[in-house]
Amino acid sequence: MQFIDLAAQYQYLKTKIDKRIQTVLDHGHYIMGPEVQELEEELAKYVGVKHVITCANGTDALTLAMMVLNIKEGDVVFCPTFTFFATAEVIAFEGATPVFVDSDEATFNICPIDLEKRIQATIAEGKLTPKAIIAVDLFGLPANYPEIKKIADKYGLKLVEDAAQGFGGSINGQKAGSFGDIATTSFFPAKPLGCYGDGGAVFTNNDEYAELLKSYRVHGKGTDKYDNVRIGVNSRLDTIQAAILLEKLAEFPTELINRNKAAANYEQTLALKYKTPQVPEGYVSSWAQYTLVDEYRDIAMAKYKAQGIPTVIYYATCMHQQSAFKYLGYQLGDYPVAERLAKQVFSLPMHGYLDLEI
Ligand SMILES: *Cc1c(COP(=O)(O)O)cnc(C)c1O
Repeated sequence: MQFIDLAAQYQYLKTKIDKRIQTVLDHGHYIMGPEVQELEEELAKYVGVKHVITCANGTDALTLAMMVLNIKEGDVVFCPTFTFFATAEVIAFEGATPVFVDSDEATFNICPIDLEKRIQATIAEGKLTPKAIIAVDLFGLPANYPEIKKIADKYGLKLVEDAAQGFGGSINGQKAGSFGDIATTSFFPAKPLGCYGDGGAVFTNNDEYAELLKSYRVHGKGTDKYDNVRIGVNSRLDTIQAAILLEKLAEFPTELINRNKAAANYEQTLALKYKTPQVPEGYVSSWAQYTLVDEYRDIAMAKYKAQGIPTVIYYATCMHQQSAFKYLGYQLGDYPVAERLAKQVFSLPMHGYLDLEI
């Protein structure tokens, strides 16, 4: 059994995907071919935003967002400590300081109460300038945007949604990828919507940001491609990946239903044995991961392994415990909820083609 069964999905979509790839091979526009724009339009429709700018991967999508928000040395960007490294990495990559925030016990997402505390502490210290918040839709569940947005507005901070895992989720019908000033996602193969390599996208309703993003992703180009008006990067989505994503996006709503059915099945059989993931009223998860909490996870994981069911730990190390962030001087005990989660969580197989009785 596969943890995420990409082969089952490919078998199901093979005819369509192969045909789409062949079309690209026939027309030969491998960089910024027509499929890229088609995909950007389809993604904008699906998510319900004005602009989608695809790029090379989810980390670049976040970096592009940091560039647009002019995040630099002396700035603070707040982000959860319990996340994938890229969320925090892009902040430090711009020379800014990541200030980590503890998790909400029930949802695993950034805790709005701790967020406000960390903002106030940063202001009180007076050394650095709070600029933005990156909230993460961890394991597919959108973060608490109604609360986070209030805090962002109160302190004049920009809000970025890292929807690398959240694509397909929603709050009261509003889709992940549409929260905050800018949102980003990843099309890494194992994400809810994945391609056959690296890929990413940035979402925004802001016309000015959209123009900047289109420039930054192609070497800071001006109206003329060879007139470079700012320092940018080379971060485009390959046309072949866009072609693959078009077919996968068309199937995505059905897969999302299947993922939610699989999660409901898990919930029914596992709720008495483990702390199962909680989805607040009005929220929909895309179930990037189905994550259990168990004080004795080693025993639980060994039991599943014996049954031929793979499990994975996301994540055993919080950001404040990462060697690369030692220079920030955090101590064990600074983030009690996230530290406990890092010791107790493990995830079960989850994808749109799951047929598992557990
Ligand atoms: C995967 C992931 C990213 C980075 O995406 P890549 O496409 O691998 O660069 C960023 N943030 C989160 C939360 C992720 O899970």
